[in-house]
Amino acid sequence: MLTETTHPDPSSLTHQTQSFAPPSDFAETANAKDPDIYRKAAEDPEAFWADWARRLDWITPFKTVLEWNPPHAKWFLGGKLNVSVNCVDRHLASRGNKPALVFEGEPGDVRTLTYSQLSVEVNKFANVLKSLGVGKGDRVSLYLPMTPEAVIAMLACTRIGAVHSVIFGGFSAESLQERTNDSGAKIILTADGYWRRGHVVPLKATTDEALKDGCPLVEKVIVLKRLGDNLSSLHMEPGRDLWWHELTENASMECEPEVMDSEDPLFILHTSGSTGKPKGILHTTAGYLTGAMATSKLVFDLKDSDLYWCTADIGWVTGHSYVVYGPLSNGATVFLYEGSPDWSVSPDFSTKGEIAVSKENEEGNLTSPGSQNRSRLWEMIARHKITILYTAPTLIRACMKWGDDHPAGHDLGSLRLLGSVGEPINPEAWLWYHKHIGGGHCPIVDTWWQTETGAIMIAPLPGLVTTKPGSATKPFPGIAADVVDEKGESLPAGQKGILVIRKPWPSMLRTLWGNDERYRQVYWSKFSGIEGGESLYFPGDGAVKDEDGNFWLLGRIDDIMLVAGHNLSTMELESALVEHYAVAEAAVIGKTHDIKGQAPVAFVIIREQFAPKIGDIEAIHALSAELKEHVSKKLGAICRPDDVILTADLPKTRSGKIMRRLLRDIAEGRIIGDTTTLADPAIVAGLKDKYAGEES
Ligand code: ATP
Ligand code: MG
Repeated sequence: MLTETTHPDPSSLTHQTQSFAPPSDFAETANAKDPDIYRKAAEDPEAFWADWARRLDWITPFKTVLEWNPPHAKWFLGGKLNVSVNCVDRHLASRGNKPALVFEGEPGDVRTLTYSQLSVEVNKFANVLKSLGVGKGDRVSLYLPMTPEAVIAMLACTRIGAVHSVIFGGFSAESLQERTNDSGAKIILTADGYWRRGHVVPLKATTDEALKDGCPLVEKVIVLKRLGDNLSSLHMEPGRDLWWHELTENASMECEPEVMDSEDPLFILHTSGSTGKPKGILHTTAGYLTGAMATSKLVFDLKDSDLYWCTADIGWVTGHSYVVYGPLSNGATVFLYEGSPDWSVSPDFSTKGEIAVSKENEEGNLTSPGSQNRSRLWEMIARHKITILYTAPTLIRACMKWGDDHPAGHDLGSLRLLGSVGEPINPEAWLWYHKHIGGGHCPIVDTWWQTETGAIMIAPLPGLVTTKPGSATKPFPGIAADVVDEKGESLPAGQKGILVIRKPWPSMLRTLWGNDERYRQVYWSKFSGIEGGESLYFPGDGAVKDEDGNFWLLGRIDDIMLVAGHNLSTMELESALVEHYAVAEAAVIGKTHDIKGQAPVAFVIIREQFAPKIGDIEAIHALSAELKEHVSKKLGAICRPDDVILTADLPKTRSGKIMRRLLRDIAEGRIIGDTTTLADPAIVAGLKDKYAGEES
């Protein structure tokens, strides 16, 4: 799509009137404060990246910076290093007693691990893996809760050169099975379960289900005891299942780090599946770590004094790059939280073992005596004095929906920087985040990147770049991002087009695990018909640049609508809707239309205080009509949605991204596509009925 660029108002998104220069005190002490960094990196990106790579600890220094045979890149050739050494060992002399991880469980249990303690645990667990026959190049599935052991396990894999494949702990048995078989893992690391909204999530039981005739290669399962007696029953298969704590008890605290080549595989991670079947992304050692380290240091302005919190689960790439590898390679202190953002235990809980429990539920499992608490995030920030918060627009919009009182009741004064990732952040949500969470003084870094890119690609350097709500601003130094037309020609400011990356970068994916053909086809074939087109990386997102060179992400190319000859982006229509006082969240799709080609259809979540009562048809229709009118006024009549459906929920991936392709299926009355990565399948069924009902 995206063949032309005439839009009734091409500036609707990019002409935000507000902009925010870096606060002067922030700019003065920022890690990146020389604006020349952009020019220098653009002139010689390889030198820029080599400088960063040299900040790693090398066993043997690299000889060649880059070998580029499109679409295959090799970075830092000839170099030997170990990732766990770079994330742990090298900080021991100067930061041995500094906390590496500060963990809070959903029931309120808190645990801190210093770099020295982390080192002990990583070495021990590396020896455990070795003793079970796991070696260099072997794949290991991690199906773990957000506890320190998840980080320990990832680092232990890197210590012995094993390739980890983390599978989000909220995924089903089927997803675990599919991903484990795809990577060919012979061992699964899991836990008995974990806490979520006061209930136990029985991970081990789900693992058993996945293993029932399902994963022929898996020989051993190591089980972390997180719930212990709080779980009514647990099956341990003799000969296959082993307890984590028993294995580590007598393991040696010293494990010689494996000498890894720069290009040795580091991990496999499947994408979140917003657009279809997940892809097994392969990242390698030195380039990935260089990208994660450099971006963490400069985009989050990481300092030794920071307590940094990225809310992403380690099951996503954000959890890999910005919970584990980026911050730890910089020697930072990372905050980890196990549970749900809107839940807490009550003060009168009783404790069993380390964690709070109360009465038994129907399955005989104990539940933690908790209740909904929409201030949980803000309480933790105030309690631990967190300084940097990195989260997703979906959570920010949920907090907006819950109301301003929750953050207002807490001292968030420790915060100095905020970040956003995962989806475009609507200007309205950006401004809310800035005012209600950042107290008006924290720079916001809106970071565009992908599982495939390994590290942040487009985001402000917070001490240098003036931000505009809704824009991810500038490509990171050394990243050659551009907006082009279908022929790969660079487009001028104000013209919507296709985002591309023109040059390789160290943390780029190397291939899709076991499927190089699909790798070529998905990311490198879009422009293969034009000269040099085989070296243009195609991320699949639409974008537009403004006069100041800022990038505005418009959503997926596949989701862009062609209405009466005009390209409309999901981001523009959704942002216009979210600007309406009653709207908390919106998803817009194009449905096939006889005359217009496509017609916009909006699915809208209303803020709680403005939501019409269930069954009040008149109020519902009035609000829908008002919203159609609002969009039409804001963006022009052509953008007016044909239907506005008010809904309590939207279909999202487990990582919180809206799955627009399913909404298209609903609006066009098709059979619903692949839903395995959907967080709550009931939402789709509900919307389907609702849509059919309202259309007729
Ligand atoms: P799949 O590729 O399987 O469909 P996915 O694309 O959702 O899954 P991720 O790699 O987790 O998997 O997500 C990357 C995508 O998320 C980007 O391509 C982009 O569409 C979106 N995205 C991430 N951050 C931002 C951001 N700051 N602004 C706009 N879009 C973003
Ligand atoms: Mg993707």
